[in-house]
Amino acid sequence: MEPSPLFLAQSLLRCPSVTPEEGGALAFIEGVLKEAGFEVHRPVFSEPGTPDVENLYARYGSDEPYLLFAGHTDVVPPGDASRWSHDPFSGEIHGGELYGRGAVDMKGGIACMMAAALDFIHGDPGFKGSIGFLITGDEEGPAINGTVKLLEWAKGRGERFDHCILGEPTNPNQLGDMIKIGRRGSLTGRIVVEGCQGHVAYPHLADNPIPGMMRLLSGLLSEPLDHGTEHFDASNLEVTTVDVGNPASNVIPAEARATFNIRFNDLWTPQSLEEEIDRRLREAAGNTVRYRLTMDPTNAVAFLTPPNAFVGFVADAIKAETGFQPKLSTTGGTSDARFIVKDCPVVEFGLVGQTMHQIDERVPVADLDRLTGIYRKVLDAYFAAAS
Ligand SMILES: [Zn+2]
Repeated sequence: MEPSPLFLAQSLLRCPSVTPEEGGALAFIEGVLKEAGFEVHRPVFSEPGTPDVENLYARYGSDEPYLLFAGHTDVVPPGDASRWSHDPFSGEIHGGELYGRGAVDMKGGIACMMAAALDFIHGDPGFKGSIGFLITGDEEGPAINGTVKLLEWAKGRGERFDHCILGEPTNPNQLGDMIKIGRRGSLTGRIVVEGCQGHVAYPHLADNPIPGMMRLLSGLLSEPLDHGTEHFDASNLEVTTVDVGNPASNVIPAEARATFNIRFNDLWTPQSLEEEIDRRLREAAGNTVRYRLTMDPTNAVAFLTPPNAFVGFVADAIKAETGFQPKLSTTGGTSDARFIVKDCPVVEFGLVGQTMHQIDERVPVADLDRLTGIYRKVLDAYFAAAS
């Protein structure tokens, strides 16, 4: 009798694995996967200035093709636990819903991946191919000792993946709404306009940086960066703060600072965007505004897994299980998929995200069964196509 997704999810929810604590979650997964015949590793990664983090890598089979399930067991803090209807780490069920921090993001998703994989292997232990789990404990925190290092570690051992499913909660409203086949990139820039401080009644002795900053920002926002692409919305530049830090009404401030963030599509790289920003600012500044521009380093580039047979397996499984034709989307924030996609195509599909990171995070028990059914159908189609 294979463990049910509910049992697996409840067991994981009872592990208090707030980043960077392992909380027993990876040990639990290790035990279950070993029992099913997986080879399991638990690499710990460190970096000066960040806490050590435990991770898990498991593989069943040694043949190709290799389908990898990826995810994280760490969770964000529960906040004020007394505001939860049920203890955030007790895995209680009420009204057909399982409560707990990580119920949808993403211990519930991991439970479904495990249940589906165990059921598939139980039915065909000698199938031709491999199933793996790449589970980090550092997604919600600094994300330094997690997926990036785990992928390097696996590659160092000669591991090569063919396709990956990341189980983040991708559905906005109901199970089957949305697959993510890519993500936008993210780039942050900072502008400083230098002026000269002085008395507001003697402006000829000062140089107010605020009008210059206004010119620069309107230059940045003057026209859209693009109009979107086949699978992406238009890139968006958002000014997130403008500061002079001036408490006085009779002083012209010395400098003005602004920060902006761009969520960009597959028309851009961080380099080409920086060139465009630079061009717009130089044009707006002319010879009159003295400013400095710095861009924060970013590892969030835009990527796309083009709709192909693999995306089709996932979409078909969703349709068969839920009746919905999922939207293929590239919306939302960044995810660990941006790291995995350097090694193999990734699609993201998991539970419904509505309560993620909230008080009373919860998942309908029925969704756990249906997501398990979807992953199970993907495994069937994936390995049937290969043999
Ligand atoms: Zn997550």
